[in-house]
Amino acid sequence: MWGRSFCPNCKCELKIVDLIPLFSFIILKCKCRYCLQKISYQYFFIELTIGFLFVLAFLQHQIIDLLLLRNLFFILVLVFIFVFDLKYYLILDRVIWPAFFIAMVINLYLGFGIWNLVLGASIGCGFFLVQYLISSGQWIGLGDVKLGALIGVMFGWQLTLLIIAIAYVLGGLTAIILLLSKKKKFGEILPMGTFLALASIIALLWGEQILYYYINILGWQM
Ligand SMILES: [Zn+2]
Repeated sequence: MWGRSFCPNCKCELKIVDLIPLFSFIILKCKCRYCLQKISYQYFFIELTIGFLFVLAFLQHQIIDLLLLRNLFFILVLVFIFVFDLKYYLILDRVIWPAFFIAMVINLYLGFGIWNLVLGASIGCGFFLVQYLISSGQWIGLGDVKLGALIGVMFGWQLTLLIIAIAYVLGGLTAIILLLSKKKKFGEILPMGTFLALASIIALLWGEQILYYYINILGWQM
């Protein structure tokens, strides 16, 4: 997170011109300028995805203000958690806690109620803590417990419930597909943080509409 970016192969420090998202990758023909080692396509796709999500967030919001900047920051954090948990089955404290405090401060400044955030964090954290304790850390890791707290302060309690629901639907569908295609065996662990991060991005972009839609459908049926 800190320090200058460098090539993972030759450790050469990268210059500004090597760090322009997407363009540097294309101009350098996906090779390191210094050692000519191939650069992973992963960087390109992550930059492309973040760019795409930034555009979506802007189109939804239309004006540049603190709420939009907050959402762009959330997207960066969530994409990082998505990729890192997928690759390494890890959710880093040095990402979670700074994000937690920044989200808390911005949301309070934006007028979120403190109890909404506290309740959100308690639900997010509590939901996973119970599973962590029952399973002695077999089903999910402590990282998911902390991520639950982070999601709570990012989104408040209502969207946190929605995010948990979406994450389990996505995780369940993925598990079924992987089991059917015999890529995973039953009981093999899936990175929960990845699904939570994806569900959070969905909630960030369309959460209000999904909640509104649900409340209307339920209200109409009753
Ligand atoms: Zn290099």
